[in-house]
Amino acid sequence: MKLSQLARDTAPILPLLRCPLCGAGFSLREERSLVCMESHCFDLSARGYVNLAPGHNQQAEKYDAALFTSRRLVLEHGFYDEVLGAIIGMITGFLPPGRGFTLLDVGCGEGFYSRELARRFPAGQILGLDLSRDAISAAARQARAAKLKTHWLVGNLTRLPLADNCVDVLLNILTPADYAQFARVLSPGGFLVKVLPGTRYLEQVRTEVADHLRRGTYSNQPVLEHLEAHGRIVEQHSVLRTFPVNPEEAAAFLAMTPMTFGLGEEARGGVTFSEITIDLEILKVKLEAL
Ligand SMILES: [Zn+2]
Repeated sequence: MKLSQLARDTAPILPLLRCPLCGAGFSLREERSLVCMESHCFDLSARGYVNLAPGHNQQAEKYDAALFTSRRLVLEHGFYDEVLGAIIGMITGFLPPGRGFTLLDVGCGEGFYSRELARRFPAGQILGLDLSRDAISAAARQARAAKLKTHWLVGNLTRLPLADNCVDVLLNILTPADYAQFARVLSPGGFLVKVLPGTRYLEQVRTEVADHLRRGTYSNQPVLEHLEAHGRIVEQHSVLRTFPVNPEEAAAFLAMTPMTFGLGEEARGGVTFSEITIDLEILKVKLEAL
């Protein structure tokens, strides 16, 4: 896309963005960069995003084209629709219809939830952030193809490039959290939606690759305790459902989960299953200011 277009699209969220190095506000320079008062400079990318973590070693990211294809397949085949529905319900309960709000999807990956929420809440200001440049590129490309009004940032969750108290809804779906940063950027009335796996999440994959895993079973207890040390769960929705899957879908589930990231094609080949269990907790959380 043209940088001048991206600069125009970025202008409305400029007041929300902060330099990740010094915390100062930005101005646009020559329709191609964001520059802070300390002259730290971050380029807009013709692929449709702003890179606010240019020093990050992208080789360390585990994303590749096959992973996106797999994630997209399972998300678009509806396995996570109930999760999306629960999130929509939490946002709808928070806002009168049509009212604007700012949503930040931290660790958005290839941007499924951000796109679906942009479709559902056209008056919302939707920002997706991920440290993987490839993930954000894919997210921006798909949003553009669907003509959705969304904003995409390459950035680090431990140094969110956003102003204090500017986010109404913060999504953190199956990715790590930094609650001090989350509390800083959330508005006083705002809330966090945290999605975390239950014990049976993708248990068919876990069973198949058990020999390769450090731990055979999973418990979300430590994650939950960490969360409850920083906030109060005000609403909870559990999704527990087992779906039949065809071989193509089984392969996609195998390829998209971190459980199999260490395994080569060989170890994954030959593995198959005929059903998959989705076991997720969707939590609406009020964070305590730190
Ligand atoms: Zn700066």
